[in-house]
Order: sequence, then structure tokens, then C-alpha cells
Amino acid sequence: MARCGVCFRHCEIPEGRTGFCGARTAKNGRVEALNYGRITALALDPIEKKPLARFFPGSLILSAGSFGCNLRCPFCQNSDISWSEQAGQYAETAETLSPEDLVGFALMTRKKGNIGVAFTYNEPLIGYEFVRDVAKLAHAEGLKNVLVTNGTAELSVWEELSPYVDAMNVDLKGFTDRYYGKVLGGDRQQVMAFIEAAVKTCHVELTTLIVPGENDSEEEMRELSRWVSCLRLPDGESVPLHVSRFFPRFRMQDRPPTEVRTVYRLAEVAREALPYVYTGNC
Ligand code: SF4
Repeated sequence: MARCGVCFRHCEIPEGRTGFCGARTAKNGRVEALNYGRITALALDPIEKKPLARFFPGSLILSAGSFGCNLRCPFCQNSDISWSEQAGQYAETAETLSPEDLVGFALMTRKKGNIGVAFTYNEPLIGYEFVRDVAKLAHAEGLKNVLVTNGTAELSVWEELSPYVDAMNVDLKGFTDRYYGKVLGGDRQQVMAFIEAAVKTCHVELTTLIVPGENDSEEEMRELSRWVSCLRLPDGESVPLHVSRFFPRFRMQDRPPTEVRTVYRLAEVAREALPYVYTGNC
């Protein structure tokens, strides 16, 4: 047995088995990232797709994904690599890249407009060791590092990464403990603490996916955006918020897509407290 200290679950992992996220294992009594360097997706994406609206707009970023997730969002858009049965198979089948390989690809695409490496598609913090090792090398080459994350990790993980991460988009998926706990299998308090720590050193933008009947009230958006308005980025600016539209996917097919007018209305509510609010998927 080995105890993982990466997220609030603190899984006790039996030797040779994996923790809840499917990405960490116990070997010789120690926890290791099973997904270290295991790449399931690699693409040169516009930075706006992360989404980041106020970090090198118009640039491209080499985006890499692995497998596994420590949440259980029923509407996951990347279930094939996050927490479906198929995702577990990547432990056997995913390609392996070294940090040097990945940074090499990033450098090769520099002349096309690539500014660095984004760790995205699945949850990067459950494999933070690979992020750290790549990000160190990338910084040494003058590249930027970006995380797209659910923010569900202990602050000790962030402390290891913070010297190397330049920007991130964190999902703040709602603003009730009920939704985080019962629907997503997460911990809102851990996400909020992570965001509060991240804004001290890093450019942070947040994304809230509006799911009908779950987190679509004006009251919840008002509370969420007021909390965000108290945060300040290192340059003194306000934290941008992306309000995004849900589509039925994976295990949440019991409701229609969010009405576009609901997304626009909630974005207006957020603008009562925040200067930078963007709508997505509309
Ligand atoms: S990162 Fe994975 S193994 Fe570690 S505590 Fe979280 S769910 Fe468990």
C-alpha cells in the first residue's frame, strides 16, 4: 500500500494497482505516475481554444494530453482518455515521449507560431511529474508553459509546478459544494484554494460550463463572479471568466444543450462584477 498525496482523495493504492484517477500506481511501496510521458493526443492549437483570451492572443500552442482523471464529470467531452473504460487501455497502448522529445516537437513548431507547450485534454495535475520535467526544459528554451486543469490538487503539487507555469485555464465548474461533490465527484474547496494560490504567480483564466438544472441560476453566477472579482493576477488585473455552453455528452444525455440566451444572460450577470467575461460554445 502507498498513499497518494496529489489530490483530496488521498488514495491508498495497493502494490501494482492504480488510484481512483487510473493514472497513478504503487511500486515498491511508493506512488508513481503510470502516465508519465504517455501521450494520447498532440496538436498545435490556437491559444484561444484552451481557452485563454488574454495570454499571447493569436498565437498557437503545442497541446499534449495523457490519460486519467480524478473527477467524474458525467458530461466529459474527452471521456475516451479521461475516465471511460477505453481510457484505462491507454496505460498499455499510449505512445511514450520523453520530456526532451516533447520540447523538441515544440521547438520544431516554433516557426509556425508555437509559443510553448500546453498540458491539456485529460487532467494534467495527476501526472504533474511529467509536466514539471517538460516545463523546466521548455523554460530553458524560452518557451511558455500552459495548464488546462480542473484545479483539483493539493497546494504542494502547485508549489512544485509554479516556477515553470506561465498561464492556466482552471475549470471553476460551479459554486456549490453539492454540485462538485454529488455530480462531479470533486471538492470545490480544494479548487478554490488552488485558484487562490495560482493567481499569485501565474496568469489564470477560469471556465464555467453552464449545465441546465445544475449550475444555471443567476444567484449562483452572481456569487461565483463576486468571489472571482476578489482575486488579482500578478499584473494587478482581474481574472477573466469564460462562461461556456453545455452539450449532452457521454453519461449526461438526459437534457438538452444549454439555451444560448441563458449563457448570454449569465455572462451579463458575471459582468456586474468582472471586466473580462467571454462566452464559449455558442
Ligand atoms: S491523484 Fe489519483 S491516485 Fe492520487 S489521490 Fe488523486 S485520484 Fe487518488
